[in-house]
Amino acid sequence: MNTTILGYPRIGARRELKFATEDYWAGRADADALLKTGAELRAAVWNELRDAGLDAVPSNTFSFYDQVLDTSVLVDAVPDRYRDLTGLDRYFAMARGVQDVPPLEMTKWFDTNYHYIVPELGPDTRFRLADGADAKPLAEYREAEALGIETRPVLVGPLTYLLLAKPAPDAPEGFRPLDLLDGLIDVYAELLERLAGSGTAWVQLDEPALVADRTEEEIDALARAYTRLGRLTSRPRLMVATYFGTIGTAALQRLSRSRVEAVALDFVAGPGNLDALASVGGLPRKTLVAGVVDGRNVWRTDQRRARATCASLLGLVDQLVVGTSCSLLHVPIDLDAETALDPDVRGRLAFARQKVTEVIAVGRALKEEVPAAPEPLAAAAGIDRAVRERLDSIGDVERGDRAARFAAQRAALGLPDLATTTIGSFPQTPEIRRARADRRAGRSTAAEYERAMKDEIARVIALQEELGLDVLVHGEPERNDMVQYFAEQLDGYAATEHGWVQSYGSRCVRPPILHSDVARPRPMTVEWATYAQSLTSRPVKGMLTGPVTMLAWSFVRDDQPLAETARQVALALRDEIADLEAAGIRIIQVDEPALRELLPLRDADRAAYLDWAVGAFRLATSGVADTTQIHTHMCYSEFGEIIGAIGALDADVTSVEAARSHMELVGDLRAAGYANGIGPGVWDIHSPRVPAAAEMEENLRRALRAVEPARLWVNPDCGLKTRGYRETEASLRNLVAAARRVRADVTG
Ligand code: GLN
Ligand code: ZN
Repeated sequence: MNTTILGYPRIGARRELKFATEDYWAGRADADALLKTGAELRAAVWNELRDAGLDAVPSNTFSFYDQVLDTSVLVDAVPDRYRDLTGLDRYFAMARGVQDVPPLEMTKWFDTNYHYIVPELGPDTRFRLADGADAKPLAEYREAEALGIETRPVLVGPLTYLLLAKPAPDAPEGFRPLDLLDGLIDVYAELLERLAGSGTAWVQLDEPALVADRTEEEIDALARAYTRLGRLTSRPRLMVATYFGTIGTAALQRLSRSRVEAVALDFVAGPGNLDALASVGGLPRKTLVAGVVDGRNVWRTDQRRARATCASLLGLVDQLVVGTSCSLLHVPIDLDAETALDPDVRGRLAFARQKVTEVIAVGRALKEEVPAAPEPLAAAAGIDRAVRERLDSIGDVERGDRAARFAAQRAALGLPDLATTTIGSFPQTPEIRRARADRRAGRSTAAEYERAMKDEIARVIALQEELGLDVLVHGEPERNDMVQYFAEQLDGYAATEHGWVQSYGSRCVRPPILHSDVARPRPMTVEWATYAQSLTSRPVKGMLTGPVTMLAWSFVRDDQPLAETARQVALALRDEIADLEAAGIRIIQVDEPALRELLPLRDADRAAYLDWAVGAFRLATSGVADTTQIHTHMCYSEFGEIIGAIGALDADVTSVEAARSHMELVGDLRAAGYANGIGPGVWDIHSPRVPAAAEMEENLRRALRAVEPARLWVNPDCGLKTRGYRETEASLRNLVAAARRVRADVTG
C-alpha cells in the first residue's frame, strides 16, 4: 500500500442514512429498508474509494449510529437494562433510550463536535464476541470482498475503548474500566483470528487516546494489549492509528517495540510527531501512515508541504504510506455539490472526496509516477486592514472594579434578589420554522417575515410578563442556529448548501466556513432586541454567541493562529455590544457553551488556550459602562479544568448547567474565586419533565449556602428551543414560584 485514508463519512452525499434511520424510528420504514440503505451506502463508498485509485480501502467505518456503540455491541458490553431487546431495537435503545429505559450517556469524541455513546462497564461485564462469525467487522469485510474490494477493517482500539468508558452506576467505588483489559483483549484476539481466517490482510486499530496525557499504568496497558495481539499466530497485519495530536513518546516507544506492522500518525494536528519519531529512533522495521491531508478541516492540502513532510520521514521508517490525518468523518462529502460558493473561497477548499484525490496525488508524486508539477498556491485569505489596525490599537480589556459594577447595576436595574430569567431561546414551533423556511425559499417577503418574527417576539414577551420573570429575552425565533445566524451576517464567513457533517446519530450539522478576516458590516441583532425592549419596561437581554463558540462550531482558517481569528470575531461582537448598549439594552448575554470543548487534549497546552479564550471574551465584553450587565452562559456539568477561567471571563452573571449535579457547581465556582453573579440551572431542560416548585426551591436553598441572595440568579439549565410550550410554561411558572418563596424567606 502506498495511499490510504483512516475513514470516510457514512451519512451519504444526500444524508440518505439520516432519512432512512429517522424513517425507521418513526415506523415509516422497516428494518429491511434501513439495512438495505446501509448496504448501499457502504458499497458506494468502497466503490468510490477503489475507483479513485486509493491503494488501501478501509471498512467497518460505517455505523448506524456510532463506532464506539458498535464496539460495545461487538464485545457484548450491553447493560442489563437493554437485554430484553434484540437487534436494531436494542442498538437504538442503547443510543436513544426507549420508554422507561434511559439511553447510555453521550459525549464528545476528543476535541471534535462528533459525539460517541459512552460504554458503561462494571466488574460483572463479561466481554465476548457477540455475533461470532457474523460480527460486524467480519460481515463488512466479506460484503466488500463480494464486490471485489479488499478492505482493511477499522476497529476502535482496546485501550481507547476502555479509556472512553465509564463505570456503570452500580459499580463499586474504585472500579475502573481499564481493569477489564485482559478480557477485552481475548475478544479482540478472537476477532483478529477470525478476520485472518477470512483472508483479511490488514486491520486498523484506532488509539487516539494516545495523543492525550497518559499515566504510566495506561502505557503499560497499551504495551500489554499490543504485545498479546502482536504475538497471535494467526492474525492480519496490525496498523495502530493515532490522531488529533502528537503521540506521547512513551506510547510510541512501546508501539515501536511491539510487533504491530504499522503506525499512523497525524502530521496536521500533531506537528510534534516528527520529533517524537526521531526521539524513539524512528520505526525502522515498520510502516508509517503519514497523515498529511487534514481530515478535520476543509482546506486544500498544500501538496508541496505534504510531500516535504513525507520526504522528511522517509529515513525514519521502513515504508511510508500517505494518508489522512484522521477519518474524513469530520468533513463534508463533496465540494462539487457546492455551486453557490464564491470562487475564491471555493478554490481554497477540499471536502472528503477531494481529499482522497489529494492523498493519491501526494502518493503518486512521492513515487514519482507523475512529475512534481508545481500546483497553483492556494489564494491568500481576504485581509481587512481596518480590522487588523483596530485590533492592534486596542489595549486594555479590563472592566471597571467589580464592586463598583455590582453597585451600579443594582441601582440601574433595580432587580430583586434571586432574579429570574431564561437562557435565551423559547420553543421553536413548526410555525416559526416554516416562516424561516418560507423566507429562505423566497415564498414570503422580507416584510412578511419581519412581521411574523415580531409577532412571535411580542407573544414571548407577553408570556414572560404574565409568568412574572424579572429579566426577559426575545426568544431567538429568527435564529436557526446560534453560530450560523451570526456567520451569515459577518464578512469572512461562508455557508455551504450541502456541507453536512455527522454530529451524533442521525443529527448532522452544516458548520459555516470562516475563511478570511472577520468584520461586521452592520448590526446583527439590534433591531430584534430593541423591538423586544420596546414592548416592556423590564430589562430584555441582548443575546450573542461568544468568539470561542463561533470558532468551535465552524471550519476555521488554518493560516493564522486560532487566537488571532478569535480576536477578530471578538471585535465584531464588541461593536455589536456597543450598538446594543447605545440602543438602550441594559443586559447583554454572550454565550460560550463551547469553551470547554476546545480545551486542548494535553495539559501542557491548556493554559495558553484558556488565556486567548478568556482574552477574546473580554475583548468582546469590556467596552461597556459599569451599569451595563454582561451575562454569559455555559452548558456542561464537568467544568473541572476551566473553572478558574470562568472567573477570569469576568462576566457580571454566569448561568451554568447545574440541575443534574445538584448545585455543587455553585460552591466549586466560589471556591475557585468566582465572585460575581451565578445562575445555576434549576431545571434540566434536556428532559420534557416538569420539575416541581419544591424541587427547584430546594436547589435554590442549596445554592444559597455558597452564594448570597443578591448574586443568585434563577434560571433553567439551557435555552428552551427544543422544548414544547406546555412543559415550558408549567416549568417556568414553578420556577418563578420557587424563586419568590425563597426570596421572601431570605429578604425577610
Ligand atoms: N442563548 C442560547 C439559547 O438559549 C444558548 C444555547 C446554548 O447554550 N447552547 O438557545
Ligand atoms: Zn446551554
